[in-house]
Amino acid sequence: MTKRLEGKTVVITGASSGIGRSCAFEFARTAPKNLKLVLTARRVDRLREIATQIREEVGEGVQVLPVELDVSDPEAVKGFVGKLPEEFKAVDVLVNNAGLVKGMARAPEIAEDDINVMFKTNVTGLINMTQAVLPIFKTRPEGGAGDIINVGSIAGREPYAGGSIYCATKAAVRSFSDALRKELIDTRIRVMEVDPGQVETEFSVVRFYGDKSKADAVYAGCDPLTPDDIAEVVVFVAGRRQNVVVADTLIFPSHQA
Ligand code: NDP
Repeated sequence: MTKRLEGKTVVITGASSGIGRSCAFEFARTAPKNLKLVLTARRVDRLREIATQIREEVGEGVQVLPVELDVSDPEAVKGFVGKLPEEFKAVDVLVNNAGLVKGMARAPEIAEDDINVMFKTNVTGLINMTQAVLPIFKTRPEGGAGDIINVGSIAGREPYAGGSIYCATKAAVRSFSDALRKELIDTRIRVMEVDPGQVETEFSVVRFYGDKSKADAVYAGCDPLTPDDIAEVVVFVAGRRQNVVVADTLIFPSHQA
């Protein structure tokens, strides 16, 4: 598996915290030779710190490039690949991880701004990122090669009261992944989805507008997953032979079954 990821260029969105950050470390630990990691998010200072930590841990065999990128800005996403340094342009793997919940309210009370932020980030941002890398994938033999790994959610399969918009965004990710996989059937481009259940990250606090006591209450008496639990699966699916498509994975803590 290490060998299969060696020499690859991996782009991760939302790499400044939680699952995306863990994915960065997991890719670097799994393929510490000749890997190129492009870490993107809005908080670029955090990305720089993560890049330093990765270099300290795995050495200089992994090249890490922090890039400030707001996936909800279509123009920024469109120009993203073109602005990468030459040695990072041949993207092999895109981990579409950036996402958020903004506000936990019943549908009639959800603010329009929050609806727009969730769709622009979780859905349109993910689609735009995919469109940005597909032309690179398509330049490769046999119709093209590369991996799109979309981080969805259990919420896209099992909608819950108070999360209607977020659930709808993740259901959209699911439909998009399934349709795109079919569109690319004659290529070596894999579209794979990893759907986490409860994972303790900043996500939990963001969804309550930063109210930590509300966030903590959600996991009281629970044993949520860690971001590393999800990152291990993301790197596992990326490390399969190119002919092996782990299309759809649902991972949740045992109490959530
Ligand atoms: P975090 O809040 O820790 O991480 C979210 C990441 O997304 C951050 O790095 C943030 O970076 C980035 N992000 C948010 N908005 C944007 C934007 N507009 N442009 C670029 N980056 C953005 O949460 P998680 O790690 O938990 O979330 C990662 C993914 O996992 C999300 O898609 C989430 O929906 C999904 N998920 C999480 C679950 C959980 O229980 N935690 C359960 C199921 C799915 P920055 O703010 O620096 O831009």
